[in-house]
This record gives sequence, structure tokens and C-alpha cells, in this order.
Amino acid sequence: MAEVAFIGLGNMGLPMASNLAAAGHTVRVYDTVAEAIVKAVAAGMQPSSSAAKAVSGADFIITMLPNGPIALAVLAEILPSAMRGAVVIDCSTIDVASAREAHRIAGEAGLLPLDAPVSGGTGGAAAGTLTFMVGGAKDAFDKALPLFEVMGGKTVHCGDGGSGQAAKICNNMLLGISMIGACEAFSLAEKLGLSAQAAFDVISTSSGSCWSVNTYCPVPGVGPKSPADNDYKPGFAAELMAKDLGLSQEAAANAGHATPLGAHALALYRSFLEKNGAGRDFSAIIDYLRTAKRS
Ligand code: NAD
Repeated sequence: MAEVAFIGLGNMGLPMASNLAAAGHTVRVYDTVAEAIVKAVAAGMQPSSSAAKAVSGADFIITMLPNGPIALAVLAEILPSAMRGAVVIDCSTIDVASAREAHRIAGEAGLLPLDAPVSGGTGGAAAGTLTFMVGGAKDAFDKALPLFEVMGGKTVHCGDGGSGQAAKICNNMLLGISMIGACEAFSLAEKLGLSAQAAFDVISTSSGSCWSVNTYCPVPGVGPKSPADNDYKPGFAAELMAKDLGLSQEAAANAGHATPLGAHALALYRSFLEKNGAGRDFSAIIDYLRTAKRS
């Protein structure tokens, strides 16, 4: 069993760390919010009074933090106390440039860095069925694989440092675009007098089928249960979708590459958030699109 330090015990981090503790690993935790540490202790983890103290002596250091600047700040804080040869795994969704910088800094300090963002949301974190997309050296990946297998159902080694984040933002850009497409299809179907059930039955078994329709339908009452059936409570919040679409646009700009639909999806999510999207699931953008004016 491994000595694991886990930093960032929010909606995702706490259940992920809990699964590691339940599997018998020693998990030392830190979060800037004291209440999060209290919950982790109740789930069998050991509290630390700082990130630096949590990582001391740990074989694996896992971070699950809000964004790139915070992930880099925490990395700088823990480096002096981390054991040489420890595998440092950042599971946060952050920009590709920060992820590459984290690899450089941690590698120079003698650590084995991995970027390992996840897909699957809070439900997947609790159930231990997340998908991990991992960037970094193969030997570090092989060492960390048993931990990924506790926290997730599928782990893909995507390539060098930063490639996990690259995979994540490409996937989520496509998800944002496809959700808007699904919402447009269902709202047009409504205008044309088609029932949501008929639209679902056809689209979900035809060439328009996709995860946003088949698994996470933005219309209530049809398909498997989704946030639409729970008054659009997240789920995956519209703010997080806007964050990920922003990261994909940043990466596209840095790569000198045009992603016009990704750019448009970001603009639509920002407008939705300004109107009434804050705190709602990302599929609730169907309400915004129902009232959009034709130009
Ligand atoms: P969250 O805001 O619930 O959790 C972040 C945690 O980090 C908080 O508990 C916060 O107190 C802590 N934190 C912030 N700064 C810190 C610091 N300097 N030191 C220690 N702890 C600090 O966010 P979340 O929903 O758990 O998401 C975490 C990451 O996972 C984000 O990058 C997000 O984009 C990504 N993600 C979220 C989901 C989701 O459905 N929530 C899905 C996939 C990926």
C-alpha cells in the first residue's frame, strides 16, 4: 500500500481521495478549507496543516485544484518537502501551457510528473469510474496506474507532458459543441410540432446520435435520467463548461489553430451565464437557445 498526499478536497477531490483510503492506502490530506479536511478525516484520512506537510514522505502526490495558477502555486509550495522520485499527479483541468510548465518544474526537482485530468464528474468520482487521460513519462504512468485503477474505470496514456490536458480540452470542446447541437435540434423539433419523445427515439438511433442526446438528453422526460430531469441542477455546471471551452480557445490560439465552432460555443456559454445560466447544468443552455433571436 502506498503513502499518498492528496491536496484539494472539493467536489471531485474528496470522493477520489476517499476511494484511495477505502482501498487501504495511507492518504494524508490538505485543503485551504478546514471543513473539507474534517470530512476527509471522517472518511479515514490523515489531516495535515499545510500542503508541504502533507507531501513529506509521500510516494504519490495528487492535486485536484481549480485552475492552472493555483496548481502551479501549490506545486511551488510542495517542491521543497517532496521526496525525490515521488510521482506528482495533477488531476485538475488546467491550461496546457501551465501543465507543461508543471512538468518542467517538477522534473527539474527530481519528481516524476503526470498531468491526469478526468472525465466522469462527481458521480464518477464517487463511484470510482472516472476516465483518466494522462500525459508524462511511461515509467511514471506505470507506477501510478494502480492508483488510477482505484479511482477510475479507464486510464489512457496520451503521450508526453501536457497531452492529458490536451485530450481533456479537445473532448470537452466537442462536448460543448455537441450539447449546443443537441439543444438546437430538440428546440427546433418543438417549434416544428414534434414531440420530445419522437425526436429522441429517432435521433438516439440515427446518425445524429451522440452522448449529449443518448446519455445526457437536455430535455426532461426522455432518455436516461439526466440533470434535465432534476431541474437542471449540475451535473456539470455551465461555469465549468465555459472554463473548459476557454481553455480550448487559449490552446487553439497558442497553437495558431482556428476552431470556429469551439469559439462560438464559448461565446454562447458566456451569454447563457450572463443571462440565467449561473449555477445550472450545462445542458440548461437549451432554455437560452429556445429564446435566441434569428439574425
Ligand atoms: P472544487 O472547487 O469543488 O474543489 C477545489 C478544491 O481545491 C476546493 O476544496 C478548494 O478549497 C481547494 N483549494 C483551492 N486552492 C487551494 C490551495 N492553494 N491549496 C489547497 N487546496 C486548495 O472543484 P472540483 O469540482 O472538485 O474540480 C476540481 C478540478 O477538477 C477542476 O480543475 C475542475 O475543472 C475539474 N473537474 C471537475 C469536474 C466536476 O464535475 N466538478 C469534472 C471533471 C473535472
